[in-house]
Amino acid sequence: MLGGTFDPVHLGHLRSAVELREALALDRVHLIPAKAPPLRGEPSVSPAERLALLRLGIGDTPGLVADDRELWREGPSYSADTLASLREELGSEARLVMALGHDAFLRLADWHAPQRLFELAHLVVVDRPDHQAALPVALRDLVAGRESDDVDALMARPAGGLLRLRLPSRMAISATELRRRLARGLSVRYLLPEAVEAHIMDHNLYRRS
Ligand code: ATP
Repeated sequence: MLGGTFDPVHLGHLRSAVELREALALDRVHLIPAKAPPLRGEPSVSPAERLALLRLGIGDTPGLVADDRELWREGPSYSADTLASLREELGSEARLVMALGHDAFLRLADWHAPQRLFELAHLVVVDRPDHQAALPVALRDLVAGRESDDVDALMARPAGGLLRLRLPSRMAISATELRRRLARGLSVRYLLPEAVEAHIMDHNLYRRS
């Protein structure tokens, strides 16, 4: 599972998903847009539009899935609920991984039911350029004793571990910077897939009105 706002999806998300799948030999990576992310403001465009962009971005990429399960759920989009529904589908023996960037990981102790995340899945933290801050104390306590430095050791169990990964193509691309560029009419070429750029332009998304 790679959850996020995907406001909009960009090559940092998509390339990370492909490289995660390879690094951990995953069957699938579910990219799961949040309807209402609990710890941030309203996304700039509707959930349906963000999902449409995600689908266009993924295209026919093998192993990547645009998963819309959070969009139909009432209330805030808690990752613990999403992992619970994946766990129910896949069974107790399946190895389930929640991937997140280092920036998102830094706030993990503030999430809803953070301990429960580890009961349901492994956490894999992806290095992101420009996001190198040290872990807050509450987070250090939360992850104490869980860290693994080896993919095989992590994947020997269905859940409960933590692994930090530096993927080969780290990209300093953020949705915040993309929205800023789009609002100003600046180029976003090569920061997101062509089909996503074309849809944004055709529908006049992220423009300052
Ligand atoms: P924003 O700038 O609006 O906060 P974002 O670019 O960080 O957005 P999100 O949708 O919040 O995108 O990210 C979803 C997940 O993908 C998070 O775990 C985030 O850390 C991770 N992520 C986002 N961009 C990258 C990137 N360039 N490289 C690796 N991981 C990324």
